[in-house]
Amino acid sequence: MKYTEIMVRYGELSTKGKNKRSFIDRLATNVRQSLHDFPELVTKAHRDRMHIQLNGEDSRKVMQRLGQVFGIQNFSPSIKVERDVKEVEKVAVEMLQEKFHAGVTFKVNTRRSDHQFIYDTNELNDMIGGYILDNIPGIKVKMKNPDFILRVEVRLNGIFLSYETINGAGGLPVGTAGKGMLMLSGGIDSPVAGYLAMKRGVDIEMVHFFSPPYTSEQALNKAKELTAKLTPYVGSIRFIEVPFTEIQETVKHDVPSGYLMTVQRRFMLRLTEALAQKRKGLAIFNGEALGQVASQTLESMAAINDVTTMPVIRPVVSMDKNEIIKIAQEIDTFDLSIMPFEDCCTIFAPPAPKTKPRIDRAREYEKRLDVNGLMQRSLDGVKITEIKIGDEFMNEQEESFAQLL
Ligand code: ATP
Ligand code: MG
Repeated sequence: MKYTEIMVRYGELSTKGKNKRSFIDRLATNVRQSLHDFPELVTKAHRDRMHIQLNGEDSRKVMQRLGQVFGIQNFSPSIKVERDVKEVEKVAVEMLQEKFHAGVTFKVNTRRSDHQFIYDTNELNDMIGGYILDNIPGIKVKMKNPDFILRVEVRLNGIFLSYETINGAGGLPVGTAGKGMLMLSGGIDSPVAGYLAMKRGVDIEMVHFFSPPYTSEQALNKAKELTAKLTPYVGSIRFIEVPFTEIQETVKHDVPSGYLMTVQRRFMLRLTEALAQKRKGLAIFNGEALGQVASQTLESMAAINDVTTMPVIRPVVSMDKNEIIKIAQEIDTFDLSIMPFEDCCTIFAPPAPKTKPRIDRAREYEKRLDVNGLMQRSLDGVKITEIKIGDEFMNEQEESFAQLL
């Protein structure tokens, strides 16, 4: 079928009272941004629905993208027909015929936003339903749980027909919950944490620490590619790369090995907070899950968290690894995350990190370091780029990687 528009139904939005208009406007902006490479689309956001006019664009490709935008409950591809019942009947039969097989059941469900239309909803249901029964032999009407509900919507500018309802991504439009910084490594957990934060409406910026020459260009590209994987939910994401080499070398040199990891993480958190303050972020997100590794005991979290009063939110904190992996597979970050490019933490990981570090010790060891100077030099080297849907960073590397195999 050649669809003419996609009709979008809002999710939790409808419960947001006074903020409803700003939520809808935000959703419309996100939808437009996420579909920016379909130039013929026209998106109109009304209070109850959003209408995306296709103007010839491929409905399947558009719907695939739309399925990733948060704040959408579901959507239906629709066909616009003249306000003429004969036309409606003809197109309705064409639509259902496509899906017909023996024993298929249907019902017609009409809505009118134009209450002046010559027929009311019951009359329309009867006329259109009767015509379908007469013209598709073997099809049956069923009021409760039919195979297809043919939805007919009478509007001032035409009559719209649809029979499919496709689930959207749910959640809240990204941006309606404010801005947060996500600490993004190259691992499995932090991209999932970022996805979950976005799902609840947080506009995230990626903060990635890297340590050349100990970490390769590939490790950096991997983090960028992971970011690109998350862009379809928003359109584009800012990627902040923070040089971490001097800090890691200094910490390694001056801090006892049991506290290397704790002190490094305290620096990461301080730097992320500094970036948040500069860029109006309200919270820090990371991919820590309780009990996974030495840095993720409650004692360790407490010793690291000691350096900031900004909320540190851990969306995957209580998940099992398997649960996190399942989401990583769904959002297609898993295969990338398990590619073997070492990031800065693995390389400087001490052989036996303390699983129960003490806050007072961590503070004490840091007195040996020029914390402010180290932070300032790192912040001076920060580089920010904007990553958009479809950007790729791994291609060349993948090729040379393949050659090695
Ligand atoms: P992940 O799978 O996200 O790497 P992990 O289970 O491997 O998590 P760690 O490596 O201990 O755990 O890291 C814990 C969290 O610290 C990460 O989820 C991430 O939020 C943050 N983090 C670790 N390394 C980096 C890095 N190089 N840049 C930015 N954030 C990092
Ligand atoms: Mg990791």
